[in-house]
Amino acid sequence: MHKVKAKPKVLLTRKLHDFAIKEIQKKYRLEIHSGKIPMPKNLLQRKIADAVGLVCFPYDRIDRDVFDAARNLRVISTYSVGYDHIDLQAAKERKIAIGYTPDVLTDATADLTVALMLDVMRRVTEGDRLIRAGRWRTIFGAHDYVGVDLCGKTLGILGMGRIGRAVAKRVKPFGMNVIYHSRTPLSKSAEKRNGAKYVSMSRLVAESDVLSVHVPYSHQTHHLINKVTFAKMKSSSFLINTARGKIVNEYDLLTALKSKRIAGAALDVFECEPIGVKNNLTKMQNIVLAPHIGSSTEETRAKMAQLTVLNLVRGLEGKKMVYSVV
Ligand code: NAP
Repeated sequence: MHKVKAKPKVLLTRKLHDFAIKEIQKKYRLEIHSGKIPMPKNLLQRKIADAVGLVCFPYDRIDRDVFDAARNLRVISTYSVGYDHIDLQAAKERKIAIGYTPDVLTDATADLTVALMLDVMRRVTEGDRLIRAGRWRTIFGAHDYVGVDLCGKTLGILGMGRIGRAVAKRVKPFGMNVIYHSRTPLSKSAEKRNGAKYVSMSRLVAESDVLSVHVPYSHQTHHLINKVTFAKMKSSSFLINTARGKIVNEYDLLTALKSKRIAGAALDVFECEPIGVKNNLTKMQNIVLAPHIGSSTEETRAKMAQLTVLNLVRGLEGKKMVYSVV
C-alpha cells in the first residue's frame, strides 16, 4: 500500500475571504492562525517551519529570524501594497518570491485621503464630537465652527506614485492647485496629465496648504516629517497621512498641533497600531483619526484577496506573479 503524498502547507496569519481560502485549499494544506493578532513571533517561527507559502498582513513582521525558521518557504504573498514589514534582503538571499497588491487599492486609498482632507478642513468629525458631547449651543454664528475652503488652496503631494497621482486627479474638481515632490519626477507630459508641478522638498513643505504623504515606509522615509518640517509649514496648513505611521514623527506632530504650529492633521496610520485613548493625539480637537482603513472597502478588500491568492499560487507553481517585489 503506497502512502498518499500530503499537500504542501500554506500558512495564513489571519482569515481571508472564503473564496480565497477555498482557492488555496485546492492545492495546499492551509493552516490559518486564529489567535492573537499579530501572530506572536515564536508561534510564527514554529508554524512557518514546514510551510512552502505564507500569506501575511502589513502588521506581521517578517524579519530575518522568521526567514531563518522557514526551511521550506518559497513564496510570501502579502495582503497589502506596502511591503516594509518584510526583510527584502533576507528574501532575496533565499530566493523567496514576494507578491503584493498594488493598483487594486489605489482608488479606495485616494478616496479616503480626500475624505480626511475634507473632514479636517471643514471640521466634520470635530462637529460630530461636539454634538455627541452635548456641546452644540449656538447656530449659524458668523464665526461658528468655521473651516477653510479647498478651492484655491495648494495641495502638496509627497510621493507621486499610484496613490499620489489618484489624489491629484480627485482634487482638481475642488479647484485645488497641485504641487508634488517625489524621488523620480514625472515626465513633463505626465505632469500635464496629472495637473501637478514638481518642486523641491523644501518648497513643497513651505508652499502647501495641505501636505499629503504617499511615500512608502523605508529607512529613507523614517520620520521624514518631523519638527523641522513643521517649523517650515504654514501655520494655516494641514497634514494628511494615509501612507505609513512611522514616516511622521508623532511626538513632533503632537507638539505642532498643541502649539498651533500647523492648523490640523488627519491620520489613517500611526507609529504603533492600534492606538488607544491613552495616545495624546486623541486629546486634540484639530485632528481626525481613522483606524487604518485606506483600502477598506468591500470591493477593494475582495480584489486584494483575489490578487493575494493569485500571487501565491502562481509563485508556488514557479510562474510569474501578477505583482512581485523581488
Ligand atoms: P507607489 O506607486 O510605489 O508610490 C510611492 C511613490 O513614492 C513613488 O513615486 C516613489 O518614487 C516615491 N518615493 C519612494 N521613496 C521616496 C523618497 N524617499 N522620497 C520621495 N519620494 C519617494 O506606491 P502607492 O501604491 O502609491 O502606495 C504608497 C504607500 O501608501 C504604500 O507604500 C503604503 O505604505 C501606503 N498605503 C497605505 C494604505 C492604507 O491603508 N492607509 C493603503 C494603500 C497604501 P519612485 O517612482 O522613484 O519609486
